[in-house]
Amino acid sequence: MITAPGQLVVISGPSGVGKSTILRRLLADLPQLVPSISATTRPPRSGEQDGIDYHFLSQDEFDRRRNAGQFIECCQVYGRESWYGTLEDEVTPRLARGEWVVLEIDVEGTLSILTRYPDAVTIFVEPADPAQLEQRLRGRGTESPEAIARRLEVAHRELRESGHYRHRVVNDNVEVALAAIKNILNNAGLPNDPAEKASV
Ligand code: 5GP
Repeated sequence: MITAPGQLVVISGPSGVGKSTILRRLLADLPQLVPSISATTRPPRSGEQDGIDYHFLSQDEFDRRRNAGQFIECCQVYGRESWYGTLEDEVTPRLARGEWVVLEIDVEGTLSILTRYPDAVTIFVEPADPAQLEQRLRGRGTESPEAIARRLEVAHRELRESGHYRHRVVNDNVEVALAAIKNILNNAGLPNDPAEKASV
């Protein structure tokens, strides 16, 4: 077990639940939180930027880094489609500096993280009604019907596995969900401001 002065916050939830919006707002409102930028072999969607949304890697580069032990967790999300992983460099140095690092990863990745960081604050965002997921995924218009079907299948499996998380937040309303997550983080000891973080 690794003990670190900072804290890991893991946020998961099925595709289409509105995690990205929540995360964007959370990071804007709480400068004490730093995001871990994941690596992925999936191609960028329109508007996504390398090094900001993800580190977009070729399969060869991803494999090279995986073989070099640079990931603290990685897996092939959505069957055989794409690889995603958390780079050690995104997490360990920041925790050592006392920072609060936020990971937005899937359930499988969370289980790996928990074996290494059992005290991570794990939050699962779930829909009030699972039917909303399909509506949001179709409304977003970024995935093919096959990709949507795969994501829904994974989403339903993830909903069944949400019991691995310490906290569960229903995203029926973004403001309410956001307030609930802030409350969880404050109860977990989130410093009030960045200056306080440095003295942890
Ligand atoms: P998207 O392709 O929509 O950006 O992300 C798909 C899924 O991959 C999300 O549900 C997200 O939680 C998961 N994901 C993103 N980054 C990582 C990562 O570094 N590790 C793992 N295990 N899952 C990730």
